[in-house]
Amino acid sequence: MIRLFLLISAVAIAAEPRITWKFDGGSLGRVERVAADHWRAHLAGESDQDGRNRQANWYSFQVDGAAVGKPLTIDLVSLPGEYNYKPNRGAVTADTPPVISFDNKTWAHVETFAYDAGEPRMRLTITPTAARFWIAHVPPYTNVHLKALREWAGGRLTEEVVGKTADGRPIPLWTIGTGEKVAWLFFRQHSWEAGSSWVGEGLVRHLLSPEGAGLRAAVTWKIFPMCDPDGVYRGGVRFNKFGYDLNRNWDVNGVAKMPEITAQRGAVRKWLEGGRKIDVLFSLHNTETSEYLEGTPENGGGGRHRELAERLFGLLEKETSFAPTRPLFYSETSTTAGMAGRMTVSQGLYRDFGLATFIMEQRISVQPKYGRKPLVADRLRFGRELAEVFAKALGR
Ligand SMILES: [Zn+2]
Repeated sequence: MIRLFLLISAVAIAAEPRITWKFDGGSLGRVERVAADHWRAHLAGESDQDGRNRQANWYSFQVDGAAVGKPLTIDLVSLPGEYNYKPNRGAVTADTPPVISFDNKTWAHVETFAYDAGEPRMRLTITPTAARFWIAHVPPYTNVHLKALREWAGGRLTEEVVGKTADGRPIPLWTIGTGEKVAWLFFRQHSWEAGSSWVGEGLVRHLLSPEGAGLRAAVTWKIFPMCDPDGVYRGGVRFNKFGYDLNRNWDVNGVAKMPEITAQRGAVRKWLEGGRKIDVLFSLHNTETSEYLEGTPENGGGGRHRELAERLFGLLEKETSFAPTRPLFYSETSTTAGMAGRMTVSQGLYRDFGLATFIMEQRISVQPKYGRKPLVADRLRFGRELAEVFAKALGR
């Protein structure tokens, strides 16, 4: 009798659905149980080194012990934040519902949600088709994915470690190809922007494929495949361990608490001081609803930067799935005039070295060329397209 009772309790505990996020790239703040089938899940969010610019747009968690076919309600809350010092209602809206996976590999968007702008709150109603499933802001790309790509690539690329992160993780720089033209590409400066990494993977796979032979012969590709390994591991948003935004602060030198930027800028400087050139430098990002290409001041390089920008933008529009929400534009010299620590990688490296530098943003919401919200296959395909377009823009 006692044994039977214990057995029943064990089954009852095991059957209780639970939410966890202690894994590579996992993130939530805390979870409140409203009812047996209803949670309020607070996004962790992160702020900068001064406690400002809170952003709460990365969450990635696992649900276990769900009853198949029995609906569960999960409210995502604690969404508001700040961007460039302006308050906002958060980046989780009806335009950006989460993705769900039942195998931690194949992702689809959650279609059964209700967004309440008042609180604000994103209410998900999930009817599980398996006891275990995963939910995230966009399909996750972690250091585990990068390791698998690195192993697949084997000796077909060369890797150097340009420095260590705040938590001591190596920062890899990959070289592919031997061409006369030189492109430096930055992926995943911001840890929530997993789409950037999927594009990077698509690009690397294409360059290393048999069809990539011409691209390898025409261009030397210098690739930072993972600019913020700590943030990606931690499930962060855009800051390093100490709150330094990986795509601001490029105008600041000598800050010990931002080793990632110091290492990446050091690698660029070393390359240039070795008497080598950089024809284009490009960093890929994600936003919620906008998509664009941003160049450095249009008179840069005596007008050559403008020519390259126009060629690149035209090719992207015509030959890729790039669907810009605004025309090509040229950036100011800082994101926040008169304040230190506010230059992006492209602004900072233009200032320091006069390079032709670009930032591209791709949206995670419905994309008109796809007619739906982008998923992993779209990002991988764009990576292939991007490699082809760079080679053409550089006059392959
Ligand atoms: Zn970004």
